[in-house]
Amino acid sequence: MVSRLIKGWQIALGPHQADSNIGWEDTMKELRVLVTGGSGFLGSHLCDRLVETGAEVLCLDNFFTGSKRNIRDLLDRKNFEVIRHDLVEPILLEVDQIYNLASPASPVHYQYNPVKTVKTNVMGTINMLGLAKRVKARILQASTSEVYGDPQQHPQKETYWGHVNPIGLRSCYDEGKRVAETLMMDYYRQNQVDVKIVRIFNTYGPRMAVSDGRVVSNFIVQALRNDPITIYGDGSQTRSFCYVSDMVEGLVRMMNCDNFTGPVNVGNPREFSIARLAGLVLEITQSKSEIVYRPLPEDDPIQRCPDITLAKERLRWEPVVPLREGLERTIEYFKQVV
Ligand code: NAD
Ligand code: UDP
Repeated sequence: MVSRLIKGWQIALGPHQADSNIGWEDTMKELRVLVTGGSGFLGSHLCDRLVETGAEVLCLDNFFTGSKRNIRDLLDRKNFEVIRHDLVEPILLEVDQIYNLASPASPVHYQYNPVKTVKTNVMGTINMLGLAKRVKARILQASTSEVYGDPQQHPQKETYWGHVNPIGLRSCYDEGKRVAETLMMDYYRQNQVDVKIVRIFNTYGPRMAVSDGRVVSNFIVQALRNDPITIYGDGSQTRSFCYVSDMVEGLVRMMNCDNFTGPVNVGNPREFSIARLAGLVLEITQSKSEIVYRPLPEDDPIQRCPDITLAKERLRWEPVVPLREGLERTIEYFKQVV
């Protein structure tokens, strides 16, 4: 562990304390921060974190997959405001930082209206970049590990260009996010917009919607109801699951890190098979659910694991919540809502 002198205090630098962006929270009270998709799973936790810094937080959402319940504890905070708006339409605001999270993230939701998913990620990102350009705001794009598609390199480094089917069922999301990254870099090169790209890997935690459709929430809800646990394929495919508080820490560190556009992978490098995840959920919940096997969806990636060397070096970030502990906290949440 490293130590460092700040404002006369000798503090220890743990894995969650960055060098380049130390002290960023002290300046937040002067800033107005926009979080698009702020009432969704990740966005609402990010809003919680930002409101605590004293920043003025604007949460923009069209409530497609987000919910007021996620932000209800923030509604009476003086430095928090909600704007119901669809990102596909332009909006005029005055802000200093933009976290662009608006987009359905679960395959079930992004495939519900794929054209709208493309519009949100392309037109929505153009609208946010136009706003950032006009008011000289810094903008962070929530990209995804899906830009690597069904990867042929393992683990995935930021330098890997990916293996994406451009015409498949997942492409509205994968290619939408890839164009969003392209737009970020073109606005950076052409208009000197201060951009940041974070490639988020599978993240889970409290406030995932019961009907979200992603694997962690599906398994937990099924286990708590003693319904069959639906493993798609044979369960040997892998994912690397990051607890939401670790992810939020990665996002705020990247936003407040100077001279670094990314892309940077933020995720947990501990890889688990889907079958193992099912076993862990069954064990923690003590559920009587049986396991049933369903067909693997089209283009479902076989393995996924981030190389987080860059995040460790540039952000001094790495996840600290182990899967079992994160699952226990998430299960506690779902016990209240299921
Ligand atoms: P989520 O579905 O819970 O949240 C998305 C939010 O965006 C919702 O509140 C939704 O209502 C809002 N939204 C969708 N379309 C919109 C539009 N056109 N205008 C305004 N608001 C709109 O998903 P999440 O897991 O919180 O994901 C947040 C972001 O992080 C997304 O951009 C997603 O692609 C990205 N991401 C998440 C993960 C993950 O594992 N959670 C992984 C990779 C990337
Ligand atoms: N999955 C599963 N059962 C479910 C939901 C998902 O076996 O009820 C699988 C899915 O096929 C994929 C993995 O779990 O291989 C992760 O799926 P998720 O939708 O959570 O995320 P993504 O595929 O976008 O990484």
